[in-house]
Amino acid sequence: MNPIIIAGPCSVESEEQIIRIAKKLKDIGIEYLRGGSFKARTNPDSFQGLGEDAIKYLIKAKEITGIKIVTELLTIEQVHKYADLIDIIQIGSRNMYNYELLKEVGKLNKPVILKRGLSATYNEWLNASRYISNNGNNNIILCERGIRTFETETRNTLDIQAIPYIKKHTNYKIIVDPSHAAGNNYMIKPMSIAAIAAGADGLIIEVHDDIEHALSDKEQAITPDELKEILDIVNRG
Ligand code: PEP
Ligand code: MN
Repeated sequence: MNPIIIAGPCSVESEEQIIRIAKKLKDIGIEYLRGGSFKARTNPDSFQGLGEDAIKYLIKAKEITGIKIVTELLTIEQVHKYADLIDIIQIGSRNMYNYELLKEVGKLNKPVILKRGLSATYNEWLNASRYISNNGNNNIILCERGIRTFETETRNTLDIQAIPYIKKHTNYKIIVDPSHAAGNNYMIKPMSIAAIAAGADGLIIEVHDDIEHALSDKEQAITPDELKEILDIVNRG
């Protein structure tokens, strides 16, 4: 089976941008579009996302291309307001310990991507997943997105070992986010291939078609053509 691939820009930047990228991704066979709406940025002065407008633009991109949409929700209020409109809800690393939010997405009947916390152990991550499953939602996709280590040349360190660990200890799917792990675009292809070789069920990758002007995380974005090269390798198996 081909891996699940979720691709798209770090942030939804405009209606035109997200529709344009959605079309390019659909053209290379991508079924899931990611795009940040409410951004949990480490620096409060960085671009914070277009919020509700971003959700509207994602829905428009879905109407036009048929691609399914994935976005992060940060608060219980946002879950109440927007969850029904989105195909897969993302819970970001910074919210892995936000148990009240996890309980709320646990009440939904829809897939939830639970990203590993910045320095979370496997045990803490799986306990977080139980806050979702204990409320009835077993449709959980765990996402390894790199962990904090002493290395400063890369944004984080991709923990490949998480893949066999999660496979051994849960029935959940595990996907890998090489973008936030590596933080450097030249590493995305080798890390994607490594993740799939280690047994990951899929990848979530930041893709932009105008990287120079991207409003967030441009150092780690790859182009749709570069994504196509990865697909040609990971879809072979
Ligand atoms: C993201 O996927 O947009 C993101 C902010 O990732 P993380 O929560 O892993 O930092
Ligand atoms: Mn990002």
